[in-house]
Amino acid sequence: MRRIIELMGTAAGPFRPQWSRTVRMTIVGALLNGAALIVLLPFVVALLNQDNQRAGVLLAVLAALLVLESFARRGELGFAYDYFGDVMQDMRLRIGEQLRKIPAEELARHRSGGVTTVLNQDVTTAMMSTSTVASSFVRLVVIPIGFIAALVVIDWRLIFGALIGAAITAFALVKQNSVIGSSQRVVGAADAETANRIVEYVQGLPVLKAAGQIGERSERLVDAMANQGKALRASIDEVTFSLTGAAVGANLAVAGVVAVGASLVLGAQLTPVSAAAVVVAAAGLAEPIARAASLTAVFEAAEAAMERIDEVLQIKPLSVPDQQASITGHDVEFENLTFSYRGSDVPALSEIDLKLRAGSLTAFVGPSGGGKTTMTRMIMRFADPQTGRVLIGGTDIRDVEERELMRQIAVVFQDVHLFDATILENVAMANPAASEQEVLDALELANCGDLIARLPNGVHTRVGEIGNQLSGGERQRVAIARALLKDAPIVLLDEPTSALDTESEVMVQEAIDRLVKDKTVVVIAHRLSTVVAADQIVVLEEGHITEVGDHESLLVAGGRYAAMWQAQTRARGWTLAK
Ligand code: ADP
Ligand code: MG
Repeated sequence: MRRIIELMGTAAGPFRPQWSRTVRMTIVGALLNGAALIVLLPFVVALLNQDNQRAGVLLAVLAALLVLESFARRGELGFAYDYFGDVMQDMRLRIGEQLRKIPAEELARHRSGGVTTVLNQDVTTAMMSTSTVASSFVRLVVIPIGFIAALVVIDWRLIFGALIGAAITAFALVKQNSVIGSSQRVVGAADAETANRIVEYVQGLPVLKAAGQIGERSERLVDAMANQGKALRASIDEVTFSLTGAAVGANLAVAGVVAVGASLVLGAQLTPVSAAAVVVAAAGLAEPIARAASLTAVFEAAEAAMERIDEVLQIKPLSVPDQQASITGHDVEFENLTFSYRGSDVPALSEIDLKLRAGSLTAFVGPSGGGKTTMTRMIMRFADPQTGRVLIGGTDIRDVEERELMRQIAVVFQDVHLFDATILENVAMANPAASEQEVLDALELANCGDLIARLPNGVHTRVGEIGNQLSGGERQRVAIARALLKDAPIVLLDEPTSALDTESEVMVQEAIDRLVKDKTVVVIAHRLSTVVAADQIVVLEEGHITEVGDHESLLVAGGRYAAMWQAQTRARGWTLAK
């Protein structure tokens, strides 16, 4: 209960009084139930003594107690019925808020499947326990204590009959707590892994289909699912074992009390009537204990879910100092920057010193894995470098607010994400203040005219309706329109590869040329034309800058770039970056 409240943070405030009410109602309900149990004893005695009048009064009292109890139960369930949805929604919004703030590197690490599991399943599982926490406490603690009190009143020696069974039940419950805790974590991790694999598989489906590998490459997903099934079976086995233990123990306790009662009756130390009453009460005790035992599994699952939620909530957002700087110039400078991705000991970038003059065009070239994409990520503060820094207009980007930084930068990457909104809205999001005419102009400049003419509702066509009909080049042009509309002073471009057909390549190139005019541009260059025209070419290999210069000077230097250039022009290849 305390953990849940902690997890809810400030949102706990409005729910706290509701919760207290739930707990109070549960205890009242249990007390009424216990009172009914206590009344049951003299009622049975009265019946056996054929004292009908007394039995009638007690029956009326019993009925009244049970009616009151059912009201208390309604109050107890009130939280689940009235506030459950609110609590879960609050929790989800809080996690969503957090996802918005955490560094992009962390977001990428918690791949989409994992985040989905946390947001959906884990929140439900964690919050589910709020509705059962009170009642299981009562079943496991209050009812047994009431029963023991009743035994003491009738004959304290009866308690000895219950000892062995109670010990077994207690042992089973304790064992269950430790075993289920760990197995629930294994199951949770397996669930998250499967979710990741499903997302991965579905996203990769078109590629697999095209490669004719639809059957073969699902291995990882099948493995994940097999693993998930195994974890679940193991956890069910463990639960079954300890649940059986708890139930057997509870029944043994009842049998023990009955046995002791019987021997006391035989020794004429207890009236048969009292013994009969004890049997009736004991029979009513075993069931709630056995049921409560199964509830502890809910708590273990909740605990594991809370840990995963907590893990996301604990991620530190990138720091921003109280004194926020603003960005005034638009040159970009890397100063002795070294960066390793989380969990990797090989730096993706080592001791990078580089200056991009304002308004210049810099091309990054080099082999796959050289660090080109990571360089562009550093400018966007995807994560903070371990040493060194990135300056824009002389200002350390760690000193500016994210919003201020993002205002300076427009990106066009290869994997263009279009939202399920109209084409117009997809572009307008880059600058919500822009008029419709400005959006249309940006689309025109990005060479989207023919594309829009082809769509059933023009710019008002939803991407969802036509998603699959957009080619890579067309998506890229929509992304360029976005960047044009944003009109940011720094432009980061991952050029389309030569996979584009010639016609759309020309159209994309034209659009890019309009986009980069008068901007500080970084382009991960695949096309020779871009590289040749660049003010500065940077060769990146294994995280190091190995060469810097313009096309002519690098050819004269006769190094790595010259070799790449020769190899590719000879082979008529058109890519300098992989
Ligand atoms: P390029 O764009 O030149 O192909 P990248 O910048 O993508 O190179 O990668 C540089 C290095 O960083 C590579 O060794 C790559 O494996 C590693 N890397 C890239 N992205 C990640 C990531 N998200 N997590 C861990 N390592 C990464
Ligand atoms: Mg790359």
